[in-house]
Amino acid sequence: MKRKLIVANWKMNQLLAQLRQFFKTLADAKITSDAVELVVCPSLPYLASAVEAASGSKVAIGAQNVSECDFGAFTGEVAAQMLTDIGCKWVLIGHSERRSLYHETDELVGKKTAKALSVGLNPILCVGETLAQREAGITDATVQSQLRAALKGIAAQTQPELVFAYEPVWAIGTGKTATAEEANRVHGVIRQELAAIYGEAAARSARILYGGSAKPDNAASLLQQPHIDGLLIGGASLAADSFAKIAAAGVVPG
Ligand code: PEP
Repeated sequence: MKRKLIVANWKMNQLLAQLRQFFKTLADAKITSDAVELVVCPSLPYLASAVEAASGSKVAIGAQNVSECDFGAFTGEVAAQMLTDIGCKWVLIGHSERRSLYHETDELVGKKTAKALSVGLNPILCVGETLAQREAGITDATVQSQLRAALKGIAAQTQPELVFAYEPVWAIGTGKTATAEEANRVHGVIRQELAAIYGEAAARSARILYGGSAKPDNAASLLQQPHIDGLLIGGASLAADSFAKIAAAGVVPG
C-alpha cells in the first residue's frame, strides 16, 4: 500500500510568525498515521526555520525551486546541495508558475530533476495542460510530451524518490478543480507513459499527486481515486487547520 503524499506549496506567502503558528497548529492536529506522509514547501528564506519547526514531527520540508547547476557564479540561485545541507528532503520542479512566469522549459525541468536526484533530494516533477491545450483536446499529448522531455536520460528512481504531480494549469488557484474522475483518468495516462519509459513495475509504484484547487471539501473524493497517490496544495495549505483536514482525508479516504 502506497502512503498518500500530501504536499503544501506556500508559493511566495507566509512570514516567520505565521510559519511557527502553522507548525504549532499542525502538531496539535496530531496527524500521526503512517498512511500519510506530509511535506511543506515554504519560501526560500524560511526553509531552515521550517526544518527546525518541523523537527521531531512527521513533516518533511521541501523547496519550491532549485538550480540545475553546481556551486558557482549564479547570482540568486540555490544549489541542490545547499537544500540537502540544511535538511530539505523534497523540491518542487517544473511548477506551472515556474514554466509560465520564468520560462522554464522541459529541458531545464529535466536538468533540475537530475540535479536534485544526484544529491539525494526527492523531486516532485509537475506537469499539466493549459486551458487552451485542454480545449484543443491535447491534454494527454501535453502531459506525455512534458514527461518524455523532462525524463530523457533520467533512470527509474526509488531512492531518492521521483514523484509526479498532475496540475492542470486552469485549475491552479482558480477554485476550479478537475473532477476526481477526470484527474484520475489523466493520472492513468501519466502512469501509462511512465510504464512506457520505465516499465510496468516502476510505473505502478510511482506516486502521482493531483494539484489544482484541492481543499478539505474535495480531498477525500480525489484521494479515493486509484491513480491519485496524494495532493499538491496551494491556497488551502496556508492555514494549518485546512492542511490538517486534507491530510486527515488521506488517512481515511472517504
Ligand atoms: C499549486 O500551486 O501547486 C496549487 C495546486 O495551487 P492551488 O491549490 O491554490 O490551486
